[in-house]
Amino acid sequence: MRCSTCAVTFPSFEFSGDTDMATDGFVAATSMDTDAVALGVATVEEYRAGYSSGQHLFAARVRQKLDLNMVAIDFVRYEDHRPSSPGRSFQLFQESYRPPEAIYACPICGGDAHVEQKLTPEVFRDAGGQLILVDGLTLRST
Ligand SMILES: [Zn+2]
Repeated sequence: MRCSTCAVTFPSFEFSGDTDMATDGFVAATSMDTDAVALGVATVEEYRAGYSSGQHLFAARVRQKLDLNMVAIDFVRYEDHRPSSPGRSFQLFQESYRPPEAIYACPICGGDAHVEQKLTPEVFRDAGGQLILVDGLTLRST
């Protein structure tokens, strides 16, 4: 991800599964020191805190446990890039359609951070990224 205000780049992790239920209860935190992401399973306390607060609690937990500067990346909003001009043909609409873009908060300045690239865990690791698995989590590639 890249911040559009201060231009800092940082990694984040998106869990994927067949349903929302399949990814429910997993938490991720981003290292501000190295190209690393920590992944874990929410504790009861983290889970009950709700998604965003739970991520922050998890970040604090791995900060202590691993002595790394981990932060939670907050989701801000979806930005809709759909053309809104009326009277356009459906074909034009289809050609110019892009799905809504998820905007996150920059952990440094609070500005809008955009996803620059989506990588598989393998590609992220090959590029020098580190996935720190805690709570006995294992990754299964699809
Ligand atoms: Zn920033």
